[in-house]
Amino acid sequence: MGDTHTADILIIGAGFGGICMGLRALRAGLRPLILERASDVGGTWRDNTYPGCACDTQSHHYSLSFAPNPDWSQRFPPQPEILAYARRITREGGLWPHIRFQQTVTSLTFDTATSHWTARTAEAEQYRAPVAVTAVGQLNQPAHPRIEGMADFPGPVLHSAHWDNGFDPTGQDIAVVGSGASAIQMIPPLADKARHLTVFQRSPNWVVPRDNRTYSNLQRRLFRYLPGWRRLHRAAIWWEWERSWPEFIDGSRQARKRSAETRADIRAKAGPLADALTPDYPLGCKRILLADDLYPTLRRGNVTLIPAALERVEGDRLIGANGQTCRADAIALATGFRARDFLPGMTVIGPDGVHLHDRWKAAGGPEAYLGLALPGFPNLFFVYGPNTNLGHNSILFMIECQAHAILGALRRMRRRGATRIEVTEAAMARYSEKLHRDLGRTAWAGGCDSWYKGDDGRIINNWSGSTLDYWWRTRRLPKRDFVVSG
Ligand code: NAP
Repeated sequence: MGDTHTADILIIGAGFGGICMGLRALRAGLRPLILERASDVGGTWRDNTYPGCACDTQSHHYSLSFAPNPDWSQRFPPQPEILAYARRITREGGLWPHIRFQQTVTSLTFDTATSHWTARTAEAEQYRAPVAVTAVGQLNQPAHPRIEGMADFPGPVLHSAHWDNGFDPTGQDIAVVGSGASAIQMIPPLADKARHLTVFQRSPNWVVPRDNRTYSNLQRRLFRYLPGWRRLHRAAIWWEWERSWPEFIDGSRQARKRSAETRADIRAKAGPLADALTPDYPLGCKRILLADDLYPTLRRGNVTLIPAALERVEGDRLIGANGQTCRADAIALATGFRARDFLPGMTVIGPDGVHLHDRWKAAGGPEAYLGLALPGFPNLFFVYGPNTNLGHNSILFMIECQAHAILGALRRMRRRGATRIEVTEAAMARYSEKLHRDLGRTAWAGGCDSWYKGDDGRIINNWSGSTLDYWWRTRRLPKRDFVVSG
């Protein structure tokens, strides 16, 4: 173990959560130190490089409000453009020197005597700061389904989250496993090149039109030279998505209307595949997907939809749960992430020797007050923590709210000359009770399996309301909900 490195605030992860927190900390006059397990920034946008990878939130709203990008090429930006944006704002914001790459944090321990957190890494380094913020994302552990015979498949098995860009799909027989957000983006470009593409769809998804458009040179110039126009455009996108929130309330008039419209759209576009592609669970229960090219692709002559899970692999033959089979040269897993594991691989120990994961286990799953803080863990905050994911708006909006709230909490602590700030048990219990009551009314609670839920069906990933509600509640954290001491 070498010297201990110190900072004002330790941030774990250099995806958009860590970048936003780091930039805001710098602006607040703090010395942040970001510990990142990989060798580059960008998080999910660095890891996911599969064909067709893009964002399904509009670009001008999928950017930080204080680090705008007038040059977005289109409404739904492709992965390389988002990664370039993440790198640029890190560099231009002066954050790069504050990042230590290839540092995988394995433990975070609170020292009661000094009220400091110590992070230890797999690379045997040690870092200390009065405040720690985890920003490791919710989708960072690729899920590999256990499928009989898969280990003996003779060809390459790729996963959307660690794609081999040396793989050439041209003229190959390819099987895509999955039908979620990653699958529907890779299916069209793979089908363009493959000899034959087979899709194993365990469950159909609600797919709505995407309507991607490129921004003209004139529009980009206007965004650059008329910042007010750009801000208005961003606000309009936010509002367009925000007003769709009632569609996520189970049984609402808006939900019924949108379901009927989408069902009719599937009938009109999917032809003979319509039955297989129409979900039997409420709209929004799983993530609503955006695509214009999915149904035309699934109806191509060189594409077969198997409406069943991939169950078994025998040599180069893949066998679906409905008995349908196909031959494949390569398998593309679009089987998602182990989103139930918050802070995987990290031991977090609070002042009384309490382990964070034990507390979460006792509570029935990961939880945090506004997804940000937990009683018994002073000066520890989460960005994109439990119950802060969205189904209808930009997660970067949430991340900005969280950075704002965390810095507000630290200012409160400093103003009082204190060394600790901690959310109270009473506030956590009140919050949790209301959160789960509200979540019970949402589409996510419906009869589907999704990555938003824990093993017992409890919704652990998603926020229960609108983004306006979250913004309002994180604008100024209620004084009575926190104890400032030391
Ligand atoms: P996902 O939504 O969890 O989808 C995984 C897919 O794999 C599901 O269709 C699942 O079926 C299927 N699956 C698992 N085992 C299977 C088997 N044995 N046979 C057949 N199918 C199997 O994962 P994802 O598509 O990677 O997306 C995860 C999240 O990442 C998204 O919800 C989104 O938030 C984010 N994402 C965002 C973008 C973007 O544009 N911003 C792009 C990609 C991903 P079941 O549905 O039956 O479980």
